Amino acid sequence: MFAELDDKTRDLKDKLTAFMAEHVYPNEGELLDEGRVENRWRHTPLMRALQEKARAQGLWNLFYHHGPEGQGLSNYQYTHLCEILGRSLAAPEIFNCNAPDVGNMEILATYGTEAQKERWLKPLLAAEIRSCFAMTEPAVASSDATNVETRIERDGDGYVVTGRKWWITGAMAEDCKVAIVMGKNDPDAPKHQQQSMILVPMDTPGVTVERPLSVYGFQHPPLGHAEVVFDGARVGADNMLLGEGRGFEIAQGRLGPGRIHHCMRFIGLAERAIEEMCARAASRTAFGSRLSEMGGVRQVIGQCRTELEAARLMTLKAAWAMDRHGNKAARNEIAMAKIFVPTVTGQIIDRAIQVHGGGGLSEDFFLAAAFAETRFLRIGDGPDEVHREALARAELKRAATREKETEQ
Ligand SMILES: Cc1cc2nc3c(=O)[nH]c(=O)nc-3n(C[C@H](O)[C@H](O)[C@H](O)COP(=O)(O)OP(=O)(O)OC[C@H]3O[C@@H](n4cnc5c(N)ncnc54)[C@H](O)[C@@H]3O)c2cc1C
Repeated sequence: MFAELDDKTRDLKDKLTAFMAEHVYPNEGELLDEGRVENRWRHTPLMRALQEKARAQGLWNLFYHHGPEGQGLSNYQYTHLCEILGRSLAAPEIFNCNAPDVGNMEILATYGTEAQKERWLKPLLAAEIRSCFAMTEPAVASSDATNVETRIERDGDGYVVTGRKWWITGAMAEDCKVAIVMGKNDPDAPKHQQQSMILVPMDTPGVTVERPLSVYGFQHPPLGHAEVVFDGARVGADNMLLGEGRGFEIAQGRLGPGRIHHCMRFIGLAERAIEEMCARAASRTAFGSRLSEMGGVRQVIGQCRTELEAARLMTLKAAWAMDRHGNKAARNEIAMAKIFVPTVTGQIIDRAIQVHGGGGLSEDFFLAAAFAETRFLRIGDGPDEVHREALARAELKRAATREKETEQ
């Protein structure tokens, strides 16, 4: 099923690996500086300089397959690169491959009008601006997106957007210029045709970024996660994406690749955690023996390698299925990877923290931040339970069909 890596992807992978070693790991502390107080939500000159370098080396928009601004890679090819850039939380944005901009660029490229692409996609592909995706609301259980209550109401030649969103990644950044907002335009329509998605420039009167939210205390500057209020924000009718009532259609298209990209990145994070766990275990002695010589630690390392291999294969299989059968047909593979990979990689990172002792919980190692990152994805982009429920539905349907066929 899995093809050998082609020359182009192998070449990009080598270049990416070298770039990470030369420019990313040595600058990680500065790039992820959570302690920065001033200009916290502004991209630093260092980030800009590294983006320029990456772009000059052709390590830019690696996910993008809609035109010459990207590398035209399949999901399977990109998986191998995403794993490398996933090894550092600082890296995705350096290559313009970060959430939520990647997902928003996918939406604009797939569903945007020419005018919408010109205004928003072009500067996003050049990382001149950032964007956010606003679906989740504090007042309702948003894992069921039909609950979303924000209103998008037609008013003359435009739409008026009213609602409160939270956990909006990217909205804290000074460069965040546009939100893709999901809301109801027709509460009386059939359940999955009530929602629309609309582009709302962040400087529209009525849009207020109220506060940053943190994940176990990590605020993830400069993009951050924000609570955002849309208080009668009025935009032109040409800001509607795809058409009224088609929000779910867009959401489905966006989330498939997005979920798999997260899994790919986490494989890289966990791979690095195993490497550092082994290095640490080999360098420390307790009770007269190296940690790496202790049976308990060795069992942990063997278990981590086994689980990571399973996670990697599931992710590769999902990427392969997306390429071969399309995102919709690959939804079960995507769901299984989305459930399995964040849990398993989180456990691996947690074990690496344990082997590091107190240091593992500190900011001196990347592990604590990495653990928080994997933990978030057991909720973000759909909680585990929702994906298991979808898998159970498909499984039970298959069983019922089998039973019917046997009866005939
Ligand atoms: C760091 C971070 C970044 C995020 N970024 C964004 C973003 O950029 N844009 C955005 O719109 N949102 C974002 N989110 C929000 C995220 O997508 C939601 O938190 C998620 O969809 C769950 O919605 P909820 O928080 O309302 O949980 P709820 O819907 O209230 O669900 C709570 C819990 O109920 C349980 N549950 C739900 N359904 C079922 C079921 N069918 N069976 C069994 N149990 C169930 C699950 O355990 C679930 O975790 C982000 C979240 C985090 C933490």
